[in-house]
Amino acid sequence: MTAQDVTSDPAFDELVRMVADARRVLVFTGAGVSTESGIPDFRGPDGLWKKVDPAIFTIQNYLADRSVRVRSWRNRLDGAIRHADANDSHRAIVDLQRLGTAPVVVTQNVDGLHQAAGSGDVIEVHGTIRDVVCMNCGDRNPADATFARIDAGEDDPPCLRCGGILKVATISFGQALDPDVLDRAFAEAEQADCCLACGSSLSVMPAAMIPLRTVETGGSLAIVNAEPTDLDGIAGTVVRGRTGTVLPALVDALRGRR
Ligand code: NAD
Repeated sequence: MTAQDVTSDPAFDELVRMVADARRVLVFTGAGVSTESGIPDFRGPDGLWKKVDPAIFTIQNYLADRSVRVRSWRNRLDGAIRHADANDSHRAIVDLQRLGTAPVVVTQNVDGLHQAAGSGDVIEVHGTIRDVVCMNCGDRNPADATFARIDAGEDDPPCLRCGGILKVATISFGQALDPDVLDRAFAEAEQADCCLACGSSLSVMPAAMIPLRTVETGGSLAIVNAEPTDLDGIAGTVVRGRTGTVLPALVDALRGRR
């Protein structure tokens, strides 16, 4: 789908109208905004769940089984996320923020690419791979030093403070979300009169309840996604397309209305 196809879609016109008329927009993102950086999503056509068993990535398996940790560190090290750069979706979201009505991004992503693109206030409801945390003493540090230890030959580096098990600071299956982070995301959803959900199947709970909260508190929902999502039925508009095409077109259209 080209930018021209997007702009001739009536659903896109409605998207522009909804964002332009909103007093406060909450941008909510999922793995789809990072696929154009080469990071696979979970449930898209080339998603990770087509290739690996999600059961392996539970916190219980991580803590109990050294071989799971070795595999997990190797995945992080060799995986797409560590070397990925921000793409046009992330940059368009920065532009949207600079237009003034979308101060905060709530993301399910753990890749840090919104910040890499220049977004300031990013609420990461599923954590980040840019930090590591000790599962025993809670010591938290930037991940690069741990990745360097793996590069140097350690396959399951222990905490340097207490010898405990280290893990990237993401929320694994079976692990509770940080209640303070979640509270802030829901508060932002309530303050927004429009939630712009981008690149998410809107099927992972409780994260998908964040855009839902905007609707429940009287706001509207606009969706940009390549495939149908679980919340299409309650959205004011659904633009079916790549975020790297649709979001820059949205920014251009909003600038054109000023
Ligand atoms: P998901 O995999 O459930 O859904 C992604 C959606 O994005 C799919 O519907 C897919 O069709 C769509 N999509 C893919 N590429 C797109 C594009 N270029 N433009 C528009 N849409 C596109 O992802 P989710 O809803 O974020 O939930 C899955 C969980 O996966 C999240 O909790 C997140 O933490 C985790 N995750 C994160 C990353 C990352 O940090 N980049 C990568 C994979 C998974």
